[in-house]
Amino acid sequence: MNDSLSPALLTSLVFGAALLANLLVKFWLASRQIRAVARHRGAVPTEFAQTITLASHQRAADYTVAKLRLGLLELAFGAAVLLGWTLMGGLDWLNALLLQAFGPGHPLLQPLALLVAFAVINGLIDLPFGLYQTFVVEQRFGFNKMSLGLWLGDLVKGTLVGAAIGIPLAALVLWLMGATGRWWWLWTWAVWMGFSLLMMVIYPMFIAPLFNKFQPLADEALKERVTGLMARCGFAAKGLFVMDGSRRSAHANAYFTGFGAAKRVVFFDTLLKQLSVPEVEAVLAHELGHFKRRHIAKRIAAMFGFSLAGLALLGWLTQQSWFYVGLGVTPNLPAQLGGDVPNHALALLLFMLVVPVFSFFLSPLSAMLSRRHEFEADAYAAQQASAQDLANALVKLYKDNASTLTPDPLYVRFYYSHPPASERIARMGARFEPVAAGA
Ligand SMILES: [Zn+2]
Repeated sequence: MNDSLSPALLTSLVFGAALLANLLVKFWLASRQIRAVARHRGAVPTEFAQTITLASHQRAADYTVAKLRLGLLELAFGAAVLLGWTLMGGLDWLNALLLQAFGPGHPLLQPLALLVAFAVINGLIDLPFGLYQTFVVEQRFGFNKMSLGLWLGDLVKGTLVGAAIGIPLAALVLWLMGATGRWWWLWTWAVWMGFSLLMMVIYPMFIAPLFNKFQPLADEALKERVTGLMARCGFAAKGLFVMDGSRRSAHANAYFTGFGAAKRVVFFDTLLKQLSVPEVEAVLAHELGHFKRRHIAKRIAAMFGFSLAGLALLGWLTQQSWFYVGLGVTPNLPAQLGGDVPNHALALLLFMLVVPVFSFFLSPLSAMLSRRHEFEADAYAAQQASAQDLANALVKLYKDNASTLTPDPLYVRFYYSHPPASERIARMGARFEPVAAGA
């Protein structure tokens, strides 16, 4: 007994300390960001003085602070929930409950029920924050375009699609964990990666259309411009689509999805409304830059590598009793209740809960790589289209999305996947003033 107690206690302590450090760093960064935004609220930064009005600058400041405040509340609440699931015994309780409900002899059903029950409870816990975010914060700043009916419809559809895809996948993984012996994690990795690649094809073609309408791009002038750009860049996409993003939100975006033959370009209708034709071309050139500089391939390769390392670690952890005990769970004993229920679902859930607490400390690294990619994509766009058009588009998007122009530098280092607008524009060598129409 003593042998397993001390590594378990150590596990609890390390986890507790990491969670505390996590909270302190996040609170500190958010309060720095709030202070930086508040400090600059009184005046538009000089380089943007000619393009951004004081009113929209202050709206961006207020929106940024409102989101950060909600984030802080969510952070404290999320930490309490995490402790509730782990050290305070929530997961242990749920597992015991389901062991009793299913009785002996359900080595696959009980673990599957545990995963589903966990997902449902966690989803319910997160609902109030989602509602508040959409109907209070986004609403107050005029971004929300959803009715409660549409929101509920999305929730139902999302849950059904998630269940239809997630439950069979979870069952397959649980089965692999039991049936393929000590190398289960390698099999699971192969299946999971195959699934991720498959989703990149299935999602844009079958799932996204459940939530939005996609229409072929009809604007002939823009189509000609975009087709010309893609030919210049040697990029073949299956289609150009406009998505009715305005049904849900006033935020604007453009993206590529899929790969291989399923590649498509999607513009939010909100983007096309806000930007001129040359500006849309420049934004698209930036996105093409991500493909041409192999950022997408690198991101997928990194996901493959991290997943493999994570699953190998999990493969080892599943066999350590301190991993369960130290995180507040009593592992199922062989022949418990007369049946042999494996611990796979418990291990998966614990791992999923605990890993973000530790991987958070790597976020400055991934954010830095991402910002480097953004600069590279900007440079590509400046070659293939116009740097000035891209700079103008950036300013418009910052203004319309009410993004702050005065972030805290340390907050940027930790979290920003995109460099601040002023840095991007300066790096491209573009001017900060808008060019006159037709110039
Ligand atoms: Zn980008």
